[in-house]
Amino acid sequence: MTSESAHRAIGVAVLGLGNVGSEVVRILREHSEDLEARVGAPLELRGVAVRRPGKDRGIPEELQTTDAESLVARDDVDLVVEVIGGMDLPRKLILSALNSGKSVVTANKALLADHTGELAEAAELHNVDLYFEAAVAGAIPVIRPLIQSLAGDRVNKVAGIVNGTTNFILSAMDETGADYASTLAEAGRLGYAEADPTADVEGYDAAAKAAILASIAFHTRVTAADVYREGISKITAADLTSARALDCTIKLLSICERITTPEGKERISARVYPALVPLEHPLASVNGAFNAVVVEAENAGRLMFYGQGAGGAPTASAVMGDLVMAARNKVNGGRGPRESKYAKLKVAPIGDIPTRYYVNMQVADKAGVLSAVAAEFSQHGVSISTVRQEGAGDGARLVVVTHVATDSALSETVEALSKLEFVTAVTSVLRLEGTEQ
Ligand code: NAP
Repeated sequence: MTSESAHRAIGVAVLGLGNVGSEVVRILREHSEDLEARVGAPLELRGVAVRRPGKDRGIPEELQTTDAESLVARDDVDLVVEVIGGMDLPRKLILSALNSGKSVVTANKALLADHTGELAEAAELHNVDLYFEAAVAGAIPVIRPLIQSLAGDRVNKVAGIVNGTTNFILSAMDETGADYASTLAEAGRLGYAEADPTADVEGYDAAAKAAILASIAFHTRVTAADVYREGISKITAADLTSARALDCTIKLLSICERITTPEGKERISARVYPALVPLEHPLASVNGAFNAVVVEAENAGRLMFYGQGAGGAPTASAVMGDLVMAARNKVNGGRGPRESKYAKLKVAPIGDIPTRYYVNMQVADKAGVLSAVAAEFSQHGVSISTVRQEGAGDGARLVVVTHVATDSALSETVEALSKLEFVTAVTSVLRLEGTEQ
């Protein structure tokens, strides 16, 4: 113990020793003296839980266990780091830790997006911390700025690129002109996509993060089921080419927004979908596996957070930040901010959400097509901003960009367009984000 540490050692259990857990343990060991000085007490690793014992992990055998529950229950464990992943087991372990008065740090977005309420209530009841900075956008500090730095402001929008796998795929498709399937395969080869990429490419991971961000930004409990979700698996090389022609690129966005209905009611929206983003927008230049989150607040204006959204060491950095905060609270005899859910705002259905659209359709190359198409848009109250014809003959396409319209008005328009004799197929409908009108 250094002369500055008057407090007894704080016992830490790390559940999971994979990409993130092994980096957390490395930092704990490599920086033990600095961490002790910052916390005011030594952080001592009491044990690590793993699934397969006996692997050479560079950690003394006596610190390894397959019995995570018993490790959590030990009297000399004060703080628990959950980096196993999954749902049922971590839920049980976290609840057990919180219910026995131990603060918890987790990176588990899927669990939080479904169970924050239950977990936060247990933390509240036992006056301990539940921290999860690493659950959204890896190393990028976004949870704490929203909870603490912006606690006195009014957040109107949080929009970001929070999934590195999909951003890698879309960036590569944009750069190379390759199609979705071959780019996904390449992402897998390079270690950017998992063997089963569904959670990433279908937007489930981004939706879980949107639920967490919306809950915090709008002081309302939002779960993954409240988030409208579309993935990137239908994006084609042609969509990216058309986007370029419009000075845009395509990004999978997680958007959390405060909206006012035409009746003047305050609602929130949480949604995930691939959208065209103008090249001059700050999110357009976030490429590869990087993440970025743009926050718009009434008084702060626009803030942008950018960095590594995944990876063992970057994610462990966020976990360690939480661990130090929880340990300091323990030393000082307090706790961090509790869950804020007082606003209880309703989530608006996707049909009510106003955005701009890009509609790409295959059409017959003859006179009268343009006016028939324009008439359908107009009949459904959707105003056209630009129309471009691409190709000719059998390959003729119309690319329409609209002004702001609701999702339901656009869906009705698309349904009507598909029935037109001149329209062979409506091949793509994407939103256009990051512009006015
Ligand atoms: P990982 O590499 O798959 O590691 C999981 C660890 O949990 C492994 O050490 C595994 O043991 C252990 N484990 C699995 N089942 C267990 C059980 N029943 N009892 C005890 N230990 C068990 O996962 P990860 O990539 O580190 O991710 C961990 C968490 O962080 C997830 O919630 C993930 O969503 C989140 N996260 C990850 C990243 C990232 O970049 N990786 C970024 C942000 C958030 P074995 O080693 O014996 O298999």
